Amino acid sequence: MKIPSCKPDTSEQEIDSVLRCLRSGRLSLGPLLPAFEERFASFVGTRYAVATSSGTAALHLCVRALGVGTGDDVITTSFSFVASTNCLLYENAQPVFADIDPHSLNVDPQEIRNVIGRDYLRCSMTKRWIHRYSRRTLKAILPVHVFGLPCDMDPIIEIAREFSLHTIEDACEALGAEYRRRRVGTFGDAACFGFYPNKQLTTGEGGMIVTNDERVAILCRSLRNQGRSEAGGWLEHAHLGYNYRLSELHCALGLAQLDRVDELLARRDRVARLYADALANVPGIALPCQPSDFKRSWFAYAIQLLGPDSVARRDNLMARLHAQGIDCRHYFPTIHRQPYFRALGLNLASALPMSESAADRCLALPFFPSMSDTEVREVCSAIREILTHENHRVDFHKVTREAARVQVLS
Ligand SMILES: *Cc1c(COP(=O)(O)O)cnc(C)c1O
Repeated sequence: MKIPSCKPDTSEQEIDSVLRCLRSGRLSLGPLLPAFEERFASFVGTRYAVATSSGTAALHLCVRALGVGTGDDVITTSFSFVASTNCLLYENAQPVFADIDPHSLNVDPQEIRNVIGRDYLRCSMTKRWIHRYSRRTLKAILPVHVFGLPCDMDPIIEIAREFSLHTIEDACEALGAEYRRRRVGTFGDAACFGFYPNKQLTTGEGGMIVTNDERVAILCRSLRNQGRSEAGGWLEHAHLGYNYRLSELHCALGLAQLDRVDELLARRDRVARLYADALANVPGIALPCQPSDFKRSWFAYAIQLLGPDSVARRDNLMARLHAQGIDCRHYFPTIHRQPYFRALGLNLASALPMSESAADRCLALPFFPSMSDTEVREVCSAIREILTHENHRVDFHKVTREAARVQVLS
């Protein structure tokens, strides 16, 4: 592809840092691990950070550490990357999908309330909320800050308090994002970040748990290191753990990226602004929203196709962009419609029209910090030309209810 969909931003600083680590001879469990964790925690604004081998591993350990497992339900979103649901399935907890707000594409707090009000009753003995029919216990909420936009956290935290639920933030796409002047990752009992090369900060592979809860931090630290405890010896295992460690080489890369994090985020902001300007008057698409008291940390730039037959038209646009050497992705398909998820045969009580509509309309454009003005212009003029050609064949009066709502809101 002439213009890739993403590209990591690494400099000579990162190369030096990794080489220095390699020359030190200390390749795992050395001084860079706590250094990376401490600096990361102070960037996000939490007391503890625990580095892991991936964002998925971070999510999995949070689920384990908060005691979410067999017989438990967790309310989350289907409009996400599969890892945010898989971490529940690993522990035999059941995801319960609440629909999204079609504007923000994040889980809608009102929908969370609707799901609880419709399906759960308070058990007077345990004071927990139990599913009417399956008798499963409602244990947690797992909101995902999709495409770097913070979820509406105040009402979510309020619901968590009201119903005694844990909150695990999936902040893997939202490093540096702020909700009412507070960084994401500081709202839940724990939060997770991911460092795959398309993320705002990369270590190649890697992840991080952040929390203010000392017990969660200690337990996660043990679980990522084969269940070893701080007090016990190398061959003493207090828990059934995993090897989810992050090597010193990864931490060296992460530390050098953290040195440049403001620059990395600012460069993404710049590309998003270029897109917003260049796409402002292209007909038939909705651009990502920007609520005024939420600071998005730009992760992806996903446009939505308005009007009927969005899947066919989105796929056509994607194919024509690919043919011109411009990579773009159908991002996200919903989790509940994934083949592996369907095969689980879980009963999904609620319809998810907004999640499905977003999945049918979204197209993530090439987006990376070093994207040039010329590259953004090339992508946008290709989109403009393709859509202008086809728009007079589309009858915008026949828009579906969902599309109309998206249109009204954008
Ligand atoms: C990237 C990402 C993760 C974690 O992915 P890893 O590849 O395991 O680091 C989790 N959730 C979301 C929403 C993500 O985008």
